Amino acid sequence: MRHHRAVILGTVLLAFGSASVGAQVTARAKLPASAPVSDIHYDVTVDSTTARTRELAVTMQFHVDGSGPVVLALPAWSPGHYTLLWFASRVRDFSATAGGTPLAWHKLDFQTWEIRANGASAVSVSFRYQADAHDRAVAYTARDLAFFNGTNVFLYPVGRGFSWPATVQIHAPADWRVATGLTAGSAPNSFTATNYHDFVDAPFVIGKFDFDSVRTRDVWVRLASFPAGGMRAEWRQRTLRWLSQLVPTEGAVFHDIPFAQYTVLQLADTIVNGGGLEHHDSQLDGVTMDGNDYPFLPFLYAHEMFHAWNVKRLRPADMVPYRYDDAQPTPWLWVSEGVTDYYGPLALVRSGIIGDSAFEAQMAGDIAQVQGSVPVALGDASLSAWIGAADGTAGIYYPKGATAGLLLDILIRDASNNAHSLDDVMRALYDSTYRTRWRGFTAADWWGTVSRFAGGRSFAAFDRHYITGRDAMPIDSVLALAGWRVARDTVRDLRLGAQVAPGDGCMLLAVVNDGGPAQAGGLRGGDCISKVGDVPVTSLNDWPKVLARYDTTTGTTLSVVARRGSDTLSLSLPVRRIDRLVFRIEEIAGASAKASQIRAGILTGHTGRGGSRSN
Ligand SMILES: [Zn+2]
Repeated sequence: MRHHRAVILGTVLLAFGSASVGAQVTARAKLPASAPVSDIHYDVTVDSTTARTRELAVTMQFHVDGSGPVVLALPAWSPGHYTLLWFASRVRDFSATAGGTPLAWHKLDFQTWEIRANGASAVSVSFRYQADAHDRAVAYTARDLAFFNGTNVFLYPVGRGFSWPATVQIHAPADWRVATGLTAGSAPNSFTATNYHDFVDAPFVIGKFDFDSVRTRDVWVRLASFPAGGMRAEWRQRTLRWLSQLVPTEGAVFHDIPFAQYTVLQLADTIVNGGGLEHHDSQLDGVTMDGNDYPFLPFLYAHEMFHAWNVKRLRPADMVPYRYDDAQPTPWLWVSEGVTDYYGPLALVRSGIIGDSAFEAQMAGDIAQVQGSVPVALGDASLSAWIGAADGTAGIYYPKGATAGLLLDILIRDASNNAHSLDDVMRALYDSTYRTRWRGFTAADWWGTVSRFAGGRSFAAFDRHYITGRDAMPIDSVLALAGWRVARDTVRDLRLGAQVAPGDGCMLLAVVNDGGPAQAGGLRGGDCISKVGDVPVTSLNDWPKVLARYDTTTGTTLSVVARRGSDTLSLSLPVRRIDRLVFRIEEIAGASAKASQIRAGILTGHTGRGGSRSN
């Protein structure tokens, strides 16, 4: 998963999405196993009517062996989105029939149904599913669109494992398209997988959207972008170009491209913007129609695609196999998410999509977040993902895990004289766990492999201090080994004293802070700023122009034009500036040959002495 990097504006963070934490429910009594079921087939029906009622119509048909009760459950969460969402809460009008005759059923717990099949061999279960969630892990409908995740609607038999094949048939209007990462079945709009894990790890986008594809190496890369015509043709082509560069670059880390087809599902201005969710052979991204998120998009695509290796296949042992009935915490999300956040920008710079300085800026941003955070252990932060964290460290395993990845990469290259790198660690773990025998990696696997490629050097102290411990990371001393230096500049920032959000051609004040300049000048929550001084403000992107114009002026007041309902206000705000520390990573002039080789090796993906840049 990836959220937009928080944008600092005024005194506060611009938060994307809701931080809702699902109701906390404790572990429940062990459920009885279902009677064996087979020939499992699902039907999902969507059309303009279901779009209007904000529902999906779902049916599951299967064969029952034996006379015992059938026990079916819906997942509590969707892998990659580490929050309990209890998908059964959206089920309406549940029914079960055999040969058209209703079967008795009741719930064993809030997400599990027990059905008395009475010896019937062919059973059908139906329900309607509420699809109005602005959430990448749930289901959403709009005019000409139905979107859902398999975890939302595909019931599974309890206690029967997940190694069973299934098919789904999508029923949609003839002029609607269907996009999913699943393998197409024999019938039109039918899809199949050999096991439940893969089956539910492929969201569906159904409706009227643009669907483009390009072939890179032996892989079809596909881009489904809703709504049709919402994303300009040259943007779609640019996206496909990026994706087709990322597939071989990211695959090179693992010496393996594990999919024949990779699908990017993109919804503009429908679900929560500014983030994505990774899936087995696909990713689902919420984007803005106006392209405001353009600078962020390549980072989003690269991050989510890297997950196809790191977490979808190479995964911590705590999450193998997935369980769907409850939370599945692990202290290793800093590898699954943070190291992915290191490799996303790396893949971009290695592909030539961004330059060295953009990669360095990204890492500097991570380091700034780490240094601005209260001390928190990476393992602890990973475990807390499921409940969020009120101390400001929620999500810190992204930038701090990325920083740990950078430090480990440098330390391995330094200890091995640039013969080995973190790439070797990722590849060896992928080979020895996922590819050889499908299991997850353990702490012994991780640190043993890191040590092996670092010439046998022990990382026990590194782990004790900086991963499972809360000591400040030795960022400056390790970066110097790669000829990099962290420069810290103090800048003076103009402050509004408000939480801002995109407005309708203006910058919306979502919340006005007590005692801040905005309040002192007479602004209220809901007001929408259209001009600051002589700088027009039509979107959040105009704020840097305001800063550039007024950050260094010496005036004590600033004029602001804002809309309040149908009124236009002209106000005068007191100017307040706050010193802010800004981090930059710069290349050290005159770094040693070894340090220069390490730095070049990281940026190009090479090891050895041949790490000089060719671009
Ligand atoms: Zn992620």
